[in-house]
Amino acid sequence: MARASRSWGHAAWRLTDRQIDRAARWGRVCAAAPKCQDPQTGVISWRYVTGQRGRVSDTERGACDTHLARFAAKHQLEVAAAPEQEPAERGGIIAAAVAGWNAAPEWVRVEPYGRSRTEWLITRTYRDGLSVSASPVWLRDVPAGASVEQALPEVEAYLAHEWGIAPARPWQFRQGGAHAPVVQVELTEPWVHMPWQVVVAVDRRGVWQAVAVLDPRFRPHTTGLGDTNMTLARAVQAATIELEDGWDLGEWTIHDQHATTTATRKITANV
Ligand SMILES: [Zn+2]
Repeated sequence: MARASRSWGHAAWRLTDRQIDRAARWGRVCAAAPKCQDPQTGVISWRYVTGQRGRVSDTERGACDTHLARFAAKHQLEVAAAPEQEPAERGGIIAAAVAGWNAAPEWVRVEPYGRSRTEWLITRTYRDGLSVSASPVWLRDVPAGASVEQALPEVEAYLAHEWGIAPARPWQFRQGGAHAPVVQVELTEPWVHMPWQVVVAVDRRGVWQAVAVLDPRFRPHTTGLGDTNMTLARAVQAATIELEDGWDLGEWTIHDQHATTTATRKITANV
């Protein structure tokens, strides 16, 4: 830890029950003391000046009950209660996606790229003008020199497969390219009403995952559940917790090595 004279802004707070459960599933132990292996139940944080240039750094570490209390006592702090609403964070992929949906919609622009006329430039931009990405892509089934209109079916397939997005309104054509606002493909007709197939299983690296598939053409939603030695029942319980914010889950079917259910998104499309 930084010398006390150069650190300030100390804070300590409890994790939510869900965060404690998640920390256990990922095998995260106390990081507040070098050899402590107790489960994380809180967070300690402080700011300090680092290096000769005097940059300010923030540090946050997971802590067990004992070291949370010890840190609080040392710095004469109250341990703050767990936040009522968990912020979108690691594991909160669905919450983040919903937040993204509620924020400014994203736009995509498609235009021919380069002189070969076989490549297309796909630019994703937020409504506030912030660029997300500009990717030259080669669309195999579009003949060289095709018009933007001719390329659009392939472009839409690419957008759905690579990024899980679809145009929310018809394309508009301008300056040799086409642009449209885009949303998550599952929010567009007819997909908005269709159930997802959810599978909970452990992958080859020993990480339990909940994978939701709407259609093989679309990118699946994957939620990591933990990499500790969990039973299938524990992983199913974790998936139920992790997915509950964004999904209505059906009944689980438990198989030998995996479990399945169907799910529908809790959000309504309001394009
Ligand atoms: Zn500890």
